Amino acid sequence: MVYCPNCGSHKIRPILPQIASKYHCPDCGYQGAFAVEDGEMAREIRERWMKK
Ligand SMILES: [Zn+2]
Repeated sequence: MVYCPNCGSHKIRPILPQIASKYHCPDCGYQGAFAVEDGEMAREIRERWMKK
């Protein structure tokens, strides 16, 4: 499971299924090569995002 590094959403998906090096997040619009794989880290990002 991967998470969005911007908002911590688990809905982040590779833009192209065959190329897992670029992700898109439907929740915040994030697009990039980096995705968080650590659930604990994602939870902290999510909490920070929710406070905004
Ligand atoms: Zn996001």
